Amino acid sequence: MTALTNLLDLDPAQLTAYCGELGEKPFRAKQLLRWIHQFGAHDFDAMTDLAKSLRDKLATRAIIAAPAVISDHTSSDGTRKWLLDVGQGNAVETVFIPEENRGTLCISTQAGCAVNCRFCSTGKQGFSRNLTVGEIIGQLWMAEFELRKSKGVEPGHKGERQITNVVMMGMGEPLLNYEPTVTALKLMLDDNAYGLSRRRVTLSTSGVVPMIDKLSQDCAVAMAVSLHASNDTLRDGLVPLNKKYPLRELMAACKRYLEFAPRDFITFEYCMLDDVNDTDVHARELIALVQGHTGGPAVPCKFNLIPFNPFPESGLKRSNNPRIKAFAQILMDAGIVTTVRKTRGDDIDAACGQLAGEVQDRTRVQERMQKMTEYQQKFGKNFGRIIEVSQ
Ligand code: SAH
Ligand code: SF4
Repeated sequence: MTALTNLLDLDPAQLTAYCGELGEKPFRAKQLLRWIHQFGAHDFDAMTDLAKSLRDKLATRAIIAAPAVISDHTSSDGTRKWLLDVGQGNAVETVFIPEENRGTLCISTQAGCAVNCRFCSTGKQGFSRNLTVGEIIGQLWMAEFELRKSKGVEPGHKGERQITNVVMMGMGEPLLNYEPTVTALKLMLDDNAYGLSRRRVTLSTSGVVPMIDKLSQDCAVAMAVSLHASNDTLRDGLVPLNKKYPLRELMAACKRYLEFAPRDFITFEYCMLDDVNDTDVHARELIALVQGHTGGPAVPCKFNLIPFNPFPESGLKRSNNPRIKAFAQILMDAGIVTTVRKTRGDDIDAACGQLAGEVQDRTRVQERMQKMTEYQQKFGKNFGRIIEVSQ
């Protein structure tokens, strides 16, 4: 029994090596990359500039399969959310956020999350498993070509790109699933695949300090850090990882990262929690922190204030709008660029930290499995699956 190789799992170098194993020249890997990631092909027979003998070889040994779509909802504001099956009752979410001159895809890197932040419903779900490269890049692959299909846009480079920006801000902590995340990032940046610039790909982390340093060497994309607190005592209670990597170390890692980053600032995300982290005192403490007055380095930054998306078990409340405005004003008066994130996709539970509701709802398993059968009938029984075949 040999498992079929899912070509979505391979980065450009691995695909070249794979072609080598099949006795093929390296340029075949480039052709394959383009077929897969620029044309959205999943059928080797469609790859007309590959020799028939190679297509036949691939058809018996490889597949191109993203996780199966369980559900697909579009919100009244245009936000589109897919729930994807990653096996054994686990599902992750991918969200597309259209804006006037860009389209951002928010992708997941793990099923569940072990960091367990107090305000995050993914964290409350616990950790299930790391996603594979194919499951991470498969979200971009599936979304890009689904969006093109819905809009009647051609595949290939002639067709208008639907996804111009990617943010790793879905379920999971990307830096705790390091290797697959970096391989997926490299595919996003590769000119024969998605060709996104490093500035248009943002990784969001709760602050895994050693991995921030490693990323600066391996694939320095734009960086967002989930801060949420202005001092260690408060952050220890909100982001448990802070006990391991406290603010001073985190700030120092951010500063080091900027030497290699494609942008000259770090984006600090700050979830606005009523009466927990949203007072004027907190805002002033934050300014001191990022300006280097509390013992760490000054870190050039922007702030993105995220109104908390409540979920029943959290026991937390969203700060009211005037409070968020006042908080933002204090930061701006200190010369810090500050934005307040619009809450989008509320009506389909696609807002930050809500990316788990449906997954936890085990009563829908049957409905999901039905959908799965439907998709497999439509796309073939291998859709979304890595299967084993006998040689
Ligand atoms: N694990 C990474 C990336 C995924 S979370 C991280 O923590 O950075 C993406 C963003 O959504 C983070 O800034 C996170 O703190 C925020 N978030 C999580 N739950 C939220 C909630 N209920 N309301 C608002 N933002 C939330
Ligand atoms: Fe994990 Fe990020 Fe949620 Fe924290 S906020 S539990 S790190 S996904």
